[in-house]
Amino acid sequence: MNYRIALIPGDGIGPEIVREAVKVLDAAGKKYGFTLDYTEVLMGGASIDVHGVPLTEEAVAVAKASDAVLMGSIGGDAATSPWYQLEPSKRPEAGLLKIRKELNLFANLRPAYLYSELKAACPLRDDIIGDGFDMMIMRELTGGLYFGTRSTVEQDGVRKATDTLTYDENEIRRIAKRGFDIARKRRKKVTSVDKANVLDSSRLWRAVVEEVAKEYPDVTLEHMLVDNCAMQLVRDPKQFDVILTENMFGDILSDEASMVTGSIGMLSSASLNETKFGLYEPSHGSAPDIAGKDLANPIATILSAAMMLRFSLDLDEAAGAVEAAVKQVLKEGYRTGDIYSEGCKKVGTVQMGSLIAERV
Ligand code: NAD
Repeated sequence: MNYRIALIPGDGIGPEIVREAVKVLDAAGKKYGFTLDYTEVLMGGASIDVHGVPLTEEAVAVAKASDAVLMGSIGGDAATSPWYQLEPSKRPEAGLLKIRKELNLFANLRPAYLYSELKAACPLRDDIIGDGFDMMIMRELTGGLYFGTRSTVEQDGVRKATDTLTYDENEIRRIAKRGFDIARKRRKKVTSVDKANVLDSSRLWRAVVEEVAKEYPDVTLEHMLVDNCAMQLVRDPKQFDVILTENMFGDILSDEASMVTGSIGMLSSASLNETKFGLYEPSHGSAPDIAGKDLANPIATILSAAMMLRFSLDLDEAAGAVEAAVKQVLKEGYRTGDIYSEGCKKVGTVQMGSLIAERV
């Protein structure tokens, strides 16, 4: 099989880490009998430098014509980069918001997985960590409080600000289905997180998620209030498989979940639409402080590429092989600087990519 991939190297460490992900994908293709045709697309500062805007219509068209998009990271140092002298709609981040909107990416997936080899970076106690944890946060990305109407007014000398939180049942249903689909590829459990004891939007959320659950009798559903979930994430993270939640709750919980794994260079993410299509990128930024120095950890991008194989291309076996290769390299003691500890073998970006590609 042959697939079309739009590649967005982006800025800072982006090109370096995407190069290593491509190396690993091509190794997986050789082993599992598929090929990937890459078309490079400029976005963020790289696009501003060439086209004067952070994302062109042509770039969007290339992404739309692809089976999936693999991205590094965009943006520069806001204090020193000329990109941040531009008006907000022309800055690097505007490109990311635009592509999410154009591609209708309403579901954000962020895994929080603890590698036993990196246990030392986890801020939780050993008895809480146990054999480690492996969860996926599925966050609604285009609705809710962040997209509702808002206003700030002054009445009788008192300033008053209002934000609105709206969800319709179709928005809830489509993300719930995505959540259950993902759970089917994992340990078949969904924890739907809401604040149904207070919010109407959460009561609708809960009702629609229950309707969707009827179509997935093989998946277990539980409901949890968001305040309890925030607590359970640090009390007993092992209990979670897929956490399904709305935009703001997901924003907060996904950061909390990723922090308990301890290492930013390891965290992948995906944003999906209603079809198999998705945009895959590391959770971290473009790290301009270490760009071009062969210091960046490419693993988050390589794991994002594995998610792309699994969720957009249905190449589950190849995805598993990439994840196993990452584990193997960590087990053999290889580390980039950000995850290095005493007694390990320190390697750069390129060598880390090669070591993983060789073990796929
Ligand atoms: P950052 O994630 O780029 O860096 C934070 C710290 O983590 C830095 O010390 C950096 O060196 C380190 N780090 C990050 N990724 C690493 C990796 N793979 N290997 C080793 N070390 C790594 O966050 P920031 O400094 O706040 O942001 C830098 C730029 O990235 C900004 O322009 C910001 O807007 C942008 N950004 C982009 C995205 C995106 O493209 N989705 C996300 C977040 C931030």
